[in-house]
Amino acid sequence: MKASAIIVAAGSGSRLGLASPKAFVTVGGCRLLHYSLATIARVPSISEAVVTVPEGMEREARDVAREVRCDLPLKVTAGGVERQDSVRIALSLTSAESDLVIVHDAARPFATATLFESCLKAAAHSGGAIAAIPVADTLKRVDQGAIISTVARAGLYQAQTPQAFRRPILLAAHERALRDRIAATDDADLVEQMGERVEIVEASGWNLKITTRADLELAEAIVAAGLVSRPVKK
Ligand code: C5P
Repeated sequence: MKASAIIVAAGSGSRLGLASPKAFVTVGGCRLLHYSLATIARVPSISEAVVTVPEGMEREARDVAREVRCDLPLKVTAGGVERQDSVRIALSLTSAESDLVIVHDAARPFATATLFESCLKAAAHSGGAIAAIPVADTLKRVDQGAIISTVARAGLYQAQTPQAFRRPILLAAHERALRDRIAATDDADLVEQMGERVEIVEASGWNLKITTRADLELAEAIVAAGLVSRPVKK
């Protein structure tokens, strides 16, 4: 089966408080976007990539792809206001010949090629599959600084990316969301709301999402310790 990869990298990363947009921030001397593009280039079933970036960063994104020898046919587009808008814009640029689409946040630099492959394989079978990890902490619902209740964590997972779907399913989910003004923080939610099956592919805590300065420092330490491999740049 053929797959298109969407890498969403158009966020400003305001919570990092840095000058450059998050996907262009460096960890271990490489930009976050270097990591995802180097990884998808090693996934045999991925035959093209569509990347969303902040307006004006299109050329930088192409340079990043070249630097890690990501030779996939590449489309780079300005993203939308929200992540969901960025995915919808990118999705409209994916090839109609692709059976599957896999969506990944550039903010998760350490997702492995194996994780991409597992999500694609599961989605080819079931329609949709996402990387996720079981919730380890006890969860509290809080109002005005005080606990209202404890949420039972049995059966709860934290959703990550990559998230893979059969292309017609993801297209229908985004069309429906636009029409009915449904907002969601991940693509699986839009697909779930159509009543479609979305499976879990158990990922690992290494697939962390960089949101805060602490996440960035942790990512630096992980790379410095050699726990994940750094993309090889030209
Ligand atoms: O903001 P957050 O970290 O949740 O964003 C998740 C991913 O979505 C990031 O990789 C970010 O660059 C991307 N994004 C986007 N377009 C937006 C907002 C976020 O492509 N409007």
